[in-house]
Amino acid sequence: MSERDAETLTQITRQEGYTSSDDLLNADLVIINTCCVRESAENKILGKIGELKKLKEKNPNLKIAISGCMVQQPGALERLQKRAPHIDIWAGTHNLHDFSALLHQAEQGGKVAEVWQEPKMPLESTPQAEKGKLQANVNIMYGCNNFCSYCIVPHVRGRERSRKPEEIIQEITDLVSSGCREVTLLGQNVNSYGKEFSPVYDFADLLHDVDQIPNLLRIRFITSHPKDLSDKLIETVAGGNKLCEHFHLPIQSGSNFILERMNRKYTREYYLSRVNKIHEILPKASLTTDIIVGFPGESEIDFEQTLEIMNMIHYSHAFTFMYSKRSGTLAAEMEDQISLDVKKRRLQRLMSVQNVKSLAWREQMIGNTYEILVEGPSRTNPERLVGRTRGNELVVFNGPSELIGSLLNIRITEAGTWTLVGDIED
Ligand code: SAH
Ligand code: SF4
Repeated sequence: MSERDAETLTQITRQEGYTSSDDLLNADLVIINTCCVRESAENKILGKIGELKKLKEKNPNLKIAISGCMVQQPGALERLQKRAPHIDIWAGTHNLHDFSALLHQAEQGGKVAEVWQEPKMPLESTPQAEKGKLQANVNIMYGCNNFCSYCIVPHVRGRERSRKPEEIIQEITDLVSSGCREVTLLGQNVNSYGKEFSPVYDFADLLHDVDQIPNLLRIRFITSHPKDLSDKLIETVAGGNKLCEHFHLPIQSGSNFILERMNRKYTREYYLSRVNKIHEILPKASLTTDIIVGFPGESEIDFEQTLEIMNMIHYSHAFTFMYSKRSGTLAAEMEDQISLDVKKRRLQRLMSVQNVKSLAWREQMIGNTYEILVEGPSRTNPERLVGRTRGNELVVFNGPSELIGSLLNIRITEAGTWTLVGDIED
């Protein structure tokens, strides 16, 4: 979501005549689009803000902007402004559409801060995804209504708002005519897309309609909240042509006690029943997840229930996090916070279990053939190409660069924890 916002800012600044540069020393404008989901992200940003002070001393014409979630937290702006008076523009998550106006004011020499508490602009005033790229992220909705007790997102991105299907379909159709072949539909909980629409039109309906867009090759979506994952959605994915059989289904914890305290609104049994349903309808679907260790009150037994679930479910990848206290959330007020030491140890144990599982998942792919969308040269080995399976697994292989952007069949020959190696099938 933040990456998509950064793209919006790039587009706006381009329209204002700026071009991108890798040379920080000669930049006229630096924008840091911030995240505040975990404290570690915030600390990194605070470090960068400090570094930019030196840069501004060398180049007084430099304008610096800080945008996004971190600025949007209650009380954060005043605190940050005091700490970093060298910043020229502060822009909240609901103010990105108006970034050019803020930029104009700063160019005149003023300091500006615009942080609306509520989104006041129509959804469609945000610039659409950047054209001319093979892959694009497309917002289908903004905000979140779930208020998981650890999470700052609903506090900084507001309540759930769904874009109209015809606007989304038009945006994707335009992207495809500019060369895009894969879209990822973005929402904090895509499964609650369209809840406010009448007549009824839900996320499965949207997927079905996006699947009809000619020349688009692949459709992905993140994130699916397990409590709202319907049979209709799984069946729609199974019946589609371009709908990738990959579900990012964050479980967060394997303990019912912790899930309840997290306000996730499902039990581990319900989660497992959803996974079984996916496997029943789509036996080869890939599953990924997010897990938090060290949530307040998590006992050794609760944690072991998470390990147990990780061993039961064959995730191809898991994003694992230590619980991070976010002020303003319910969990931050809970008394039984877990020490950093315990969190670190649990994270290590969890990661070693998942690494074995990820490797096993990839090893069982050896010898089989998968459809790959060729994305470009491999980052680690630029002579080779890289692409992804429909399940979102990364595959490296030898081939000419003319293949970029096309679908290919690749036979897997080697597996690692993170990537696969394969050969083009004749
Ligand atoms: N809307 C998505 C997630 C957005 S945040 C969903 O519900 O799945 C991405 C992930 O960050 C979450 O799934 C969670 O695992 C993690 N996360 C969020 N808040 C956190 C916190 N306070 N500490 C640690 N991890 C957190
Ligand atoms: Fe945060 Fe929960 Fe909303 Fe995801 S669903 S953004 S974890 S509150």
